[in-house]
Amino acid sequence: AAKAAGGCTYMAFEPRMQDDARDKHELLRDLRHAIENKQLELFYQPKIDARSGQVTAAEALLRWHHPVRGTLSPDVFIPLAERHGLIGALGNWVIDDACRQARVWRERGLKMRVAINLSVFQMRQNDLVERIQAALKRHGVNPSRLTCEITESVAMEDTQVTQRTFERLGQAGIHLSIDDFGTGYSSLSYLRRLPATELKIDRSFVMDLDTSDDAKAIVDAVLKLAHAIGLKVVAEGVETVQQRDILLQLGCDEFQGYLFARPMSARALLLWAVEDKPAKNAFRASLFAET
Ligand code: C2E
Ligand code: MG
Ligand code: MG
Ligand code: MG
Repeated sequence: AAKAAGGCTYMAFEPRMQDDARDKHELLRDLRHAIENKQLELFYQPKIDARSGQVTAAEALLRWHHPVRGTLSPDVFIPLAERHGLIGALGNWVIDDACRQARVWRERGLKMRVAINLSVFQMRQNDLVERIQAALKRHGVNPSRLTCEITESVAMEDTQVTQRTFERLGQAGIHLSIDDFGTGYSSLSYLRRLPATELKIDRSFVMDLDTSDDAKAIVDAVLKLAHAIGLKVVAEGVETVQQRDILLQLGCDEFQGYLFARPMSARALLLWAVEDKPAKNAFRASLFAET
């Protein structure tokens, strides 16, 4: 199309690029004030034990309620925050709010853990572990109630700083989970050295389970490997009964996905966890779901 438009291409294209840049600029400006303006919220998506149907944990997923643009996905603003030095402040807010929520659950007698996602920038922070420990203490939450999810690609980053953060989180009694597993290029021996307790199979493999024998073979291999080195396996993005049944047959430990529950507000999750039998009520859960 660019060639066909000939000499006009440049002029036709430029305004859009300017719009894009202005867009990013405005978004960034707004993001700087999102915390103080109380526009951030943690949604929670349960992880469910494959055999008992019990909720074992809930993963905190960040949402930004933008006054004009509506609710924005972290895929939109987390990369922006990372590029412009805002992820530290955002991450700290997440740590504190998730710990506060874990305390609420404990007080309600709910036995689920809270999971948070950590970005590569946070893993490189020297004081990350102290920050997390301080937040746990502030809210009276035991470290074993917290899981930190770190993507495979970040976990494999062989820098002293990230590796040290990894070890110190483990030593502090915090659970570690390798997120989006299968998208990176991990060596098995390396994986074994990490003090992780959980591995999450990336949604892209789960998605193809009912149509592709290759996907099934890969998931099977990952499960065997993970179990051999003592890791619990969570399948993310489980959307269909067929996927769930294949995963169950392959020996997957926990499920997460729209089939069971979408990410939802803390209030909705409380109702869901207290009033419902999760395994039976995938339908009712959708009533509280994010739209
Ligand atoms: P993730 O940690 O791998 O989270 C899973 C994503 O898949 C979430 O998207 C979730 O809403 C979505 N999901 C869950 N079940 C299903 C399903 O059955 N089908 C489909 N199609 N999607 C499903 P979300 O909430 O948009 O988050 C995207 C990513 O943003 C997360 O991927 C995580 O890497 C990042 N993120 C979210 N919250 C935070 C945060 O507080 N800090 C950092 N650093 N990153 C975050
Ligand atoms: Mg995650
Ligand atoms: Mg994931
Ligand atoms: Mg992901």
